[in-house]
Amino acid sequence: MTLRWRAAAEAAGLVSPDGSTRPTIFAEMTALALRTGAANLGQGFPDADGPQWIREAAVRAIREGANQYAPGRGIPELRSAVAEHQRRHYGLDPDPEREVLVTAGATEGIAAAVLALTGPGDEVVTLEPFYDSYAAVIAMAGATHVTVPLVADAGGFRVDAAALESAVGPRTRLILVNSPHNPTGTVLSPEELGAIASAARRVDAVVVTDEVYEHLTFDGLSHTPLATLPGMAERTLSVSSAGKTFSLTGWKIGWVTGPADLIEAVLAVKQFLTYTGGAPFQPAIARALLEGGRDIAELRDSLAERRDLLLDGLRAAGFDAVSPGGTYFVCADASPFLTPEAPHGAAFARALPERSGVACVPVSAFCREGSRAATALSSWVRFTFVKDEQTLRTAIERLAAPGRR
Ligand SMILES: *Cc1c(COP(=O)(O)O)cnc(C)c1O
Repeated sequence: MTLRWRAAAEAAGLVSPDGSTRPTIFAEMTALALRTGAANLGQGFPDADGPQWIREAAVRAIREGANQYAPGRGIPELRSAVAEHQRRHYGLDPDPEREVLVTAGATEGIAAAVLALTGPGDEVVTLEPFYDSYAAVIAMAGATHVTVPLVADAGGFRVDAAALESAVGPRTRLILVNSPHNPTGTVLSPEELGAIASAARRVDAVVVTDEVYEHLTFDGLSHTPLATLPGMAERTLSVSSAGKTFSLTGWKIGWVTGPADLIEAVLAVKQFLTYTGGAPFQPAIARALLEGGRDIAELRDSLAERRDLLLDGLRAAGFDAVSPGGTYFVCADASPFLTPEAPHGAAFARALPERSGVACVPVSAFCREGSRAATALSSWVRFTFVKDEQTLRTAIERLAAPGRR
């Protein structure tokens, strides 16, 4: 098999030296959890489906005939609901006709934006660790991936401001920012957002934001879209999706909002990736965005409780765990448990299902091999708390059990 983007894919660690596609660490850990009966706190998908009324709305849409291609930009009701959502939560006011695009999840929105706006010779800056699709799509575009490490300190994982300044330069075409951040749970502070915005303005770069956890923040923290900062609306594509907000990750309904010319560029690629998708899910998500405020608040509150449960359990078991301001995830330093047989986070994560009956994923899976972040975080692992309370309690008891480790 020859991959047209083979060299870039190899450089990004996406294919094995024999050319085969690497199974993602998430699939590998889930398979291992199944085989060993481990409590699976590895892959971050909810084990309870989203609200019944939203699911019924999709069933009804199928019965009522929403079964053929939806318009390429998405159905008008959903585009209006997305625009209304941006207005209500953030004071942004995208035109549903020209400044909103529905995509096959946030993943397609991000991929289409990167493919549309970057190519060989361009640099794309992301935080590191980063969501795994970023490196893949930057490689597909033939662009160069430049990263800015998030550094663990007393205040959690924070952006290295000096590294940001030096990473963003004349070749930077696009800055791809994820907040609330997977895997660290960091919600970028006003200072960090300001520094990213000023770097983008300095070199006239476009910013693409991955805001899929926008509503899942805790401790009174709230999410601020970069598009709301001075001088940013005209250069920012904001990407989000219904998957995480409504616990419907299998529906793959996402959206991009931003200036009409940038949306047009994303559409030019998106129309030849999927053209359109999820016709019966689109009207259901339109209603969810307009009427699902209470469901979102309930999910956020319940996630905050589950975060506390997991965090306390991990700390009681001896991990140095960082409290996340948002998302589905807690990162923990497994240093106290490393052994000659399992000398780093990746080996620890591979051994943990057998050893303790719990699955997690190594943070190095979100890093580039040999990078500064990969080195600094080599002993760290990520656990998800988007699981039912019983699963979390089982995992905590197993991690605390003496002798099993
Ligand atoms: C889950 C996730 C996505 C994928 O969103 P979809 O809408 O399912 O495509 C994108 N970015 C981050 C950071 C995620 O955690």
